Amino acid sequence: MSPDDLIAKHFQPNPLQVKALERLNMATLGDLLYYFPFRYGDQVEEKLIEELQTGDEAVVYGKVVKAGVSKAWKKKIPMGEVVIEDATGRIKAVWFHQAYLAKKVAVGQIARLQGKVLARRGGGAERKKERYLVNPEIESANGGALDGQSLFQKDGGVGGASNFLIPVYSETRSLSSSWFHHHLKKILSGGAIDKLVDPIPTKLLKKYNLPGLATALVWIHSPKKESDALAARKRFAFQEIFFIQLSRLQAKQTYQQQASHKFKTSKKTISDFTKRLPFKLTSAQSKAITQITSDFDSGGPMTRLLEGDVGSGKTAVAVAASAAVVQAGLEVAYMAPTEILAKQHFESFIDYFNSPTGPDATAGANTQVGLITGKGCYKFPSKIWHGPDATAGVRYTNISRAQLLKWVANGEIPILVGTHALITKTVKFKKLGLVIIDEQHRFGVMQRAKLARKNEETVPHLLSMTATPIPRTLALTVYGDLDLTLLDEMPAGRKAIITKIIREDGREIAYKHIQQELEKGRQAYVICPRIDEPDPTKALALRAKSAKSEQVRLQEKIFPKFDVGLVHSKLKPADKAAAMEEFTEGDADILVATSVVEVGVNVPNATVIVIEGAERFGLAQLHQLRGRVWRSNHQAYCYLFTDTGGKKSLERLKALQTAKNGFELAELDLALRGAGELNPSTSSGSGRKARQWGLSDLGMEAIKNIKMVEAARTEARELLSADPELKRHPLIHQKLADQKTNETHWE
Ligand code: ADP
Ligand code: MG
Repeated sequence: MSPDDLIAKHFQPNPLQVKALERLNMATLGDLLYYFPFRYGDQVEEKLIEELQTGDEAVVYGKVVKAGVSKAWKKKIPMGEVVIEDATGRIKAVWFHQAYLAKKVAVGQIARLQGKVLARRGGGAERKKERYLVNPEIESANGGALDGQSLFQKDGGVGGASNFLIPVYSETRSLSSSWFHHHLKKILSGGAIDKLVDPIPTKLLKKYNLPGLATALVWIHSPKKESDALAARKRFAFQEIFFIQLSRLQAKQTYQQQASHKFKTSKKTISDFTKRLPFKLTSAQSKAITQITSDFDSGGPMTRLLEGDVGSGKTAVAVAASAAVVQAGLEVAYMAPTEILAKQHFESFIDYFNSPTGPDATAGANTQVGLITGKGCYKFPSKIWHGPDATAGVRYTNISRAQLLKWVANGEIPILVGTHALITKTVKFKKLGLVIIDEQHRFGVMQRAKLARKNEETVPHLLSMTATPIPRTLALTVYGDLDLTLLDEMPAGRKAIITKIIREDGREIAYKHIQQELEKGRQAYVICPRIDEPDPTKALALRAKSAKSEQVRLQEKIFPKFDVGLVHSKLKPADKAAAMEEFTEGDADILVATSVVEVGVNVPNATVIVIEGAERFGLAQLHQLRGRVWRSNHQAYCYLFTDTGGKKSLERLKALQTAKNGFELAELDLALRGAGELNPSTSSGSGRKARQWGLSDLGMEAIKNIKMVEAARTEARELLSADPELKRHPLIHQKLADQKTNETHWE
């Protein structure tokens, strides 16, 4: 029997439910079986708002009509307040100790509240009794578990009658938690799961004391006791990490079996190059360059990830590697995630290669460098450029795409920098020797693979670079296909950034200090969480400063003597580039921006960064932002403005003061908040929850457990080395080919 027939046999979903299933990407019974509860609780009755009685412990659903933090009735402590409504009425929920919980939902969302109903006299003329929920649990109905709440909810059991655990599933329109509970129970007791084939070898189940597939499914969906649920969750976490490891390691194995350009790099090539840099390489940079050049000489293609904190000098390493490749008569493709960065790197390459002391100053011929983005193509040098010491003259020139592609294809332009435009089919190289991907977390695995396969018979070497320090367990998993090089040393003389957490009452003093820095000729960034002024009806968003209005306010009221620029993602590319240029050239003293400046922008004269609404950003992102001012030998300052009194938020922000480097911060972040926060591309507040790093919530939990990750990795490696083609493991082979870790297989 095929799984799809099984879905039909077990229940007939109505059209709305079919739509909801599609939305969740669930086509088979297997998909449904792998839809795990995010926590377990005692059964509490669901009620309509109208039905609520004082003293009830109940679950209600409703649309959020108000959400925010205000001052409590009598005492002046912050109080969270949310009002929801359903078809029968409205009810208010209040939080006295965890006011921030009210910010977990936004107006217009559907929320699930669970808690105790109390009543008090209203303040109105009629002094009617008003019912409200006090300190309830709150979840947006399409979201997952909230932090601070454990997997097992033990309190508030109704009369102690139920002693088994009710699974709670993340809900979506038309499919409630109890719908999943009910149907999964039916499927599990129907016997179909006995026909499931366990993808994990029995040997491993025994070795790590994990339950078999059928048992684990029963235990995770309707556990009789906590330990069963935990054992099942451990098993599925292991399964997920194990299969990711297998697929990454297999990808690496396949890639490295291909032919690649093998060449020796003379010491002279590198020393000629580094001698002319305006600084001395750090020993971490030198080591990285040595590793890379020995990869070039090893026969197989390099697949290396260069991980280094912002400002650790990854560009110099990339340029040195490029010099070696160009010297060997091959070409380099350099991909950056944004136009601003592509342009900046284009200029860096020109600088590094063609400065008065650059490698070609003696060789006579200039190394040509091309730039390709969606907006246009450029080439260095231009006809009117008179050499590196010329003071006037435009260095590069705008050329047609066709012309650029022709020159790249015949090898005349050995270095091509670009955005995604580099991946398009029409871009052909003559002998592509090296692909460099900057800020590689911004690109998917597929995009990486596409660029790396540009050259058919011989694959290029691949150098990925990232400034996002992630915990080792996560790196071992998601980057399992790459060799790791760490740039764990900052250029000499860099002073640690002084980071200050500033509450509203400290604002003026902070501005005074920023003024002093500006008067010394330094520059400052001001980062705001939003572009526009929020809709005034949305209480939740009210306090976040917007870049547009902050630019006006700072210019007119706070720093009238200075020039305040503005850049955000809704600007036209030309305006964006102009604003960036003004700041880079020093014409603007302050740049107000949204987090678009997050990645890679290099303005060494900027020594101050102010982050408004700092609690709204993830730690990793804050660290990236702070890195913008970690570029010179001047003392740099980071001001984290925050308006929450939340203990958790403050604790999180304090980690930025205590962590010595990005790697330490990443580990702290993982411990404090869960790995989700580490994902720099997660946009908070968007309705659908994206899978982070390609892992499920369960997988993300597993990342906290180094032993498990290492066990999964060891087993995956051993399995592949004993059976590289997976001939003796047809099911695993099949599963990897399916590219879906949760695919089920039936007898
Ligand atoms: P990132 O690793 O964030 O990409 P960059 O390559 O942009 O860092 O380098 C940051 C700054 O540090 C640049 O201005 C660069 O010129 C400078 N730099 C790089 N390496 C060194 C070094 N060894 N000594 C001094 N300054 C350096
Ligand atoms: Mg960089």
